[in-house]
Amino acid sequence: MARKTKTTTEFGAKYGSSVRKKYTKVTTSLRQKRNCPECNSIKFKRVAIGIWACDKCEFKVADSAYETTTV
Ligand SMILES: [Zn+2]
Repeated sequence: MARKTKTTTEFGAKYGSSVRKKYTKVTTSLRQKRNCPECNSIKFKRVAIGIWACDKCEFKVADSAYETTTV
């Protein structure tokens, strides 16, 4: 297998194109910097699915799994 292909996702050709597209969309949105609704710092991030927390003021909120509606 000497064939080298560059893909935009880490999965290569696996799992089907629609799944990879969704995964890329979700992971890129997770990498975005978010502002904390309490102290407005950019340390606001997802700690678990549906749970978002701020490192600075320890503000914690339950929100949707992959996006925040509070931003
Ligand atoms: Zn905060």
